[in-house]
Amino acid sequence: MNLGQNPHPITLNKFHMEVAVIGAGVSGLATARALKSSGHRIVVFEKLNQLGGTWSFDPRVESDPLGLDPTREIVHGSLYKSLCTNLPRQLMGFSDYPFPESKNGSSGDNFPGHEEVLKFLNDFAAEFGLVELIRFDCEVVRVERVDSRNDVWLIESICSNQKSEEIFDAVVVCNGHHTQPRVATLPGIEKWPGKQMHSHNYRVPEPFEDQIVVVIGEGPSALDISRDICDVAREVHLSSRSPNVKVSKLVSGNNMWQHSKIDYVNENGEVAFQDGALVQADIILHCTGYNYSFPFLKTDGIVNMEHNRVGPLYKHIFPPKLAPNLSFVGLPYQTVVFLLIDLQAKWVTHILSGSGLLPSKEEMVAEVKEHYRQMEAKGIPQHHTHCLHLKFEYLDWLVNQVGLEGVSERVKISSSSYFKFAADNGLWKAKDWKPGNDIEESLSVD
Ligand code: FAD
Repeated sequence: MNLGQNPHPITLNKFHMEVAVIGAGVSGLATARALKSSGHRIVVFEKLNQLGGTWSFDPRVESDPLGLDPTREIVHGSLYKSLCTNLPRQLMGFSDYPFPESKNGSSGDNFPGHEEVLKFLNDFAAEFGLVELIRFDCEVVRVERVDSRNDVWLIESICSNQKSEEIFDAVVVCNGHHTQPRVATLPGIEKWPGKQMHSHNYRVPEPFEDQIVVVIGEGPSALDISRDICDVAREVHLSSRSPNVKVSKLVSGNNMWQHSKIDYVNENGEVAFQDGALVQADIILHCTGYNYSFPFLKTDGIVNMEHNRVGPLYKHIFPPKLAPNLSFVGLPYQTVVFLLIDLQAKWVTHILSGSGLLPSKEEMVAEVKEHYRQMEAKGIPQHHTHCLHLKFEYLDWLVNQVGLEGVSERVKISSSSYFKFAADNGLWKAKDWKPGNDIEESLSVD
């Protein structure tokens, strides 16, 4: 869309705003840094006592191992102790603040452990003076626009057990989306006598000693956790919903099998797969992803969550009716996450600072509808609304908005090479990837 020809763009009353940022993970830090550098006054609300969000490993698990009981005390983090990144370090930096290079150059070292990522984020926060902007132990419990004409936003928070209400000009929601488990629906599960848990509550392999475990999922967590537990478990059976998967023994472990989708489970403890195999299992481990959740957000139905689609959102960020004073950073997945977040944060800052203009509300609504229409035409399910399928169009669009042409070319070279290697060799082997494997393959991922 050519904004220069837009007759009714959204404009702002003031360029230096009081902005509330919710969360001090990657999204909150990148947003705080971008807003700060444009002269906005920011408060970052962080419910934990340290920054880093997902990357601050929390050994605690929840009382309900499936993470569904609404009365449970929620643990934000989902990292397991052995976790190394599933993207190489070349793809774990921001546009102008790269992730440190490998010290020993081995392929394993290309995928840093979570401690190194947390250190990177702490260094980033220290370098840009962000720590002093963060209110730790401060949970936001309500976000509501209280004056629609003047765009006045109320933030209610509980900081060290003290409730307070404050007014801001704008709110950027950066609360993450890897905390509310989504579980598989399994016929017969009500009477199945075994134990179930979600990867959100997986930390270490020891509790799986001598157990027969069925792991549902085909993403990096399912593969990583299967590998983690196969040294202690008696058997590990991976269940995938991809079509045409047949039962097979996996070379990566002598006690691991790949199966198709689960057909049903029985009260005698059996798990029946669509490939015909029957397994007497002790534990079913759901590595089946997460749902978006914004329990604090009161928008009178303007922003909805239906089938895990947060919408309507223009470019995954701005709800047209509340833009630009309410925005979301960090929703898309299956992408180069840190770069994406950095670019989104910079674009939100551009808009809030008046350096960029949004189209009119009607045009934004029309664009969102067109996005949904195209998804439907391609048969893409609604719950994939924020999935970028490792494609670059959206990153390119953001790069263009914030005037950082060139950034994406450098990242595309590494990501194209890595994603192609992973696709050709399977996720099991992806961590054998080394930079520079096939530079000439660059720029051709989509
Ligand atoms: P988060 O990291 O979740 O941070 C959100 C912050 O908001 C938290 O600190 C939380 O405490 C705070 N918060 C939430 N609600 C409130 C509230 N009401 N009030 C105040 N504060 C609040 N990405 C990669 O790039 N590479 C990887 O290898 C990779 N591996 C991953 C492995 C796992 C197991 C998981 C779960 C995710 C992985 N990711 C990976 C994705 C990861 O989520 C992102 O890298 C990144 O952490 C997202 O940052 P975020 O700030 O959006 O969310």
